[in-house]
Amino acid sequence: MSLKTAAQIRREFLEFFKAKEHLIVDSAPVVPKNDPSLLFTNAGMNQFKPIFLGEQDGLKDDGKIWKRAADTQRCIRVSGKHNDLEEVGHDTYHHTLFEMLGNWSFGDYFKEQAIEWAWELLVDEWGLDPDRLYATVFEGDESDGLPADDESARLWVEKTSISPDHVLKFDKKDNFWEMGETGPCGPCSEVHVDLRSDDERKKKPGAELVNMDDPRVMEIWNLVFIQFNRQNDGSLVKLPAQHVDTGMGFERICAVLQRKTSNYDTDVFQPIIQKIADLAGKTYGDDEETDIAMRVIADHIRAVSFSIMDGASPSNEGRGYVIRRILRRAIRYGWDRLDFKKPFMSKLVPVLADQFADVFPELDGQIEYIQNVILAEEKSFLNTLGQGIELFNSMIEGKKKLSGDDAFKLHDTYGFPIDLTELMAREKGVEVDTDRFSELMKEQKERARAAGKFTASEKSDLEWTVIKDAESEFVGYDDVKTNTSILA
Ligand code: ATP
Ligand code: MG
Ligand code: MG
Ligand code: MG
Repeated sequence: MSLKTAAQIRREFLEFFKAKEHLIVDSAPVVPKNDPSLLFTNAGMNQFKPIFLGEQDGLKDDGKIWKRAADTQRCIRVSGKHNDLEEVGHDTYHHTLFEMLGNWSFGDYFKEQAIEWAWELLVDEWGLDPDRLYATVFEGDESDGLPADDESARLWVEKTSISPDHVLKFDKKDNFWEMGETGPCGPCSEVHVDLRSDDERKKKPGAELVNMDDPRVMEIWNLVFIQFNRQNDGSLVKLPAQHVDTGMGFERICAVLQRKTSNYDTDVFQPIIQKIADLAGKTYGDDEETDIAMRVIADHIRAVSFSIMDGASPSNEGRGYVIRRILRRAIRYGWDRLDFKKPFMSKLVPVLADQFADVFPELDGQIEYIQNVILAEEKSFLNTLGQGIELFNSMIEGKKKLSGDDAFKLHDTYGFPIDLTELMAREKGVEVDTDRFSELMKEQKERARAAGKFTASEKSDLEWTVIKDAESEFVGYDDVKTNTSILA
């Protein structure tokens, strides 16, 4: 049997839920509109926030209110509560930008149906081996007044063919979801898959590796049951309408179904890695150091391109600075390990546009614009990068710690974001005095303020913040953007 392509897997997910009467909607942009509390969309549920807050009771389409929806949401996790940047390229399954496949119930079906369907899709449709699957449930937390989710534990055993000793209990760090200090929250149940060989599995049960950051026993799907409303005094009140919010890592499920041990070996990443390898005149798989660089670049070009497509651009603050940091990080990896001394990132954009033509066609229409933005940023950083690297090397010679003043100079004169300097220092086993660096940054801001220059206010990056004002009041339904192109 031939293996499924990524496009097929995405389509099958959506078709599965469409057949179960879900409205298939478009991904929201990665740059959230009308949500100043969030730098980047970091989960599929972000765009349905008004529903979970009870301001809206479903999605309107075709004159009908839908209580079920499914989509693939592009997400970015490089800041705030979810920051996976350091893992990217070094591990095989965390990306800065990834697609989160999701199905939702807005006060409609609940735990039983969500668990049954998740199992049906993974095992009956996609043929995953039940012996390799684990489900985790919330064990409860008395000190926080949170009850154990015994109901889900029971449903996994009763409604699926999972072996009872594959249902595991974990604490609130992994199995309880809260949007913030107050508001909708609830237990979650996650599916993990053990990709090790039969021999390895005999030696050590997969149960011991779940939630242990082992890439071979990987979390693939999170089913969140939004059940309570956390009050100001910390108590929990049962919500009048209970919701299901699920998120499955698309690149991860592609790796599983394509029998790969790394997301980068799937057809989601291979075309872009091949292009990078061609440009560098190297072969992917030859050397771990150059492989890491290729993976980082393949990952980062996606985050940067989609952010620009969705309306952000590299700058010195907020979102724009996150994009600049990611881009410069990729450029440095290219310079250092693949000998890219001239712009190369912008050349990768058409490969992406090609790949995403079906699912995010917006990319295709903006190729040239995105390339120009990236090229300008590359040119400007490449002007100072070489000198900056030389200076950095001389600064750390014979030292165990880079001074805050030196880090500031690299930042101010050579455009090195502090996390890039820290990364370079780590590679050489050197520390950075970030306290002193922060002090200098603060002083610089104060000088700018005293001189009357405008500085942007700090942005929070919680899951979201509830801002109650006249503007955010619910005034009626906007039709959602439904997505028919993927299924066409
Ligand atoms: P992990 O524990 O692996 O970091 P998570 O628990 O932080 O994942 P969730 O917030 O539960 O992730 O998100 C839902 C799903 O999205 C996860 O089960 C996973 O499959 C996927 N996912 C999360 N973060 C990433 C990422 N950085 N890159 C790729 N997929 C991700
Ligand atoms: Mg995580
Ligand atoms: Mg997790
Ligand atoms: Mg999770």
